[in-house]
Amino acid sequence: MKLISVIVPCYNEQEVLPLYYDEMNKIMAQMKSEHDDIEFELLFINDGSKDNTLKMLRELSEKDKRVRYISFSRNFGKEAGMYAGLENAKGDYVVIMDADLQHPPAFIPDMYNYVSKEGYDCATTRRVSRKGESKIRSWFAMKFYKIMNKISQTEIVDGAQDFRFMTRQMVDAILSMKEYNRFSKGIFSWVGFNVKYIEYENVERAAGTTAWSFWKLFMYSLEGIFAFSTAPLALASLLGVLSCLVAFIWIIVIIIKTLAFGESVQGFPTIMCAIFFIGGLQLFCTGILGQYLSKTYLETKNRPIYIISETDKNTSEK
Ligand code: UDP
Ligand code: MG
Repeated sequence: MKLISVIVPCYNEQEVLPLYYDEMNKIMAQMKSEHDDIEFELLFINDGSKDNTLKMLRELSEKDKRVRYISFSRNFGKEAGMYAGLENAKGDYVVIMDADLQHPPAFIPDMYNYVSKEGYDCATTRRVSRKGESKIRSWFAMKFYKIMNKISQTEIVDGAQDFRFMTRQMVDAILSMKEYNRFSKGIFSWVGFNVKYIEYENVERAAGTTAWSFWKLFMYSLEGIFAFSTAPLALASLLGVLSCLVAFIWIIVIIIKTLAFGESVQGFPTIMCAIFFIGGLQLFCTGILGQYLSKTYLETKNRPIYIISETDKNTSEK
């Protein structure tokens, strides 16, 4: 028997949970009729929801013994949810997916075939369109992937998602990365392995609203850059060298002007410009240093990535 664990991070998902559960039930029944050697477990992570999500999960796990849940003591973010899921999943294969049906369960049978029959370690979807998303958001996303792939050695695939079907081996590799500042798109790619990308058109959320504001997404993309690239640190040296060069040329120009043409140099504006320019550069570079320092600070604190306040009885018995 092979166990497939399905991890679903949930934050205020009371509207879509019943829809998700129904869809998933159909797929699980279909897969069990096709393969008689598989079992499922559904592991929901309640990420500090403020609505009835937890209550619904309690009821689901009472009625369906395949359903397990872990409830956090507060909202720790989706990254923490996924990590908790991976740590607690018992399966030989592990699936991570969203609760809002933007990751259609109908892909799971194909993913299973790719991984169990065709020798892939991971199957994942890649959106080829960003239908239903605002233009500005798409533009920023595109730029982010461009910049990220220029300055980081870890490839971040445009449109790749957290919807993944993985082998136990890959899950263990991901769990071995215990960093506190987690950027999963980078982590999935950093561990390597043989990944199958299934392309599909973007699907809109079945119900409820997204928890990701534009600002949150923007900060998350910066998180990605600081977690997977040290290029911004080198920027400080580069800017330093550049401004030295500019200053040097400037000096030569002034010397020639004064000696050859006898022009008097305008002191005040020149000095003000130089002060503002160099001052700005220095603050900017100190800011970048500060970013890395703060990340290092958080890592050295060795805080747990999440805190559990409640689980279903299956996990508490463990
Ligand atoms: N999510 C979570 N914690 C959070 C925010 C989101 O566990 O702090 C979950 C959410 O319940 C959903 C998934 O992460 O299952 C994706 O969230 P959402 O649909 O809001 O993001 P989007 O699809 O817009 O990227
Ligand atoms: Mg969504």
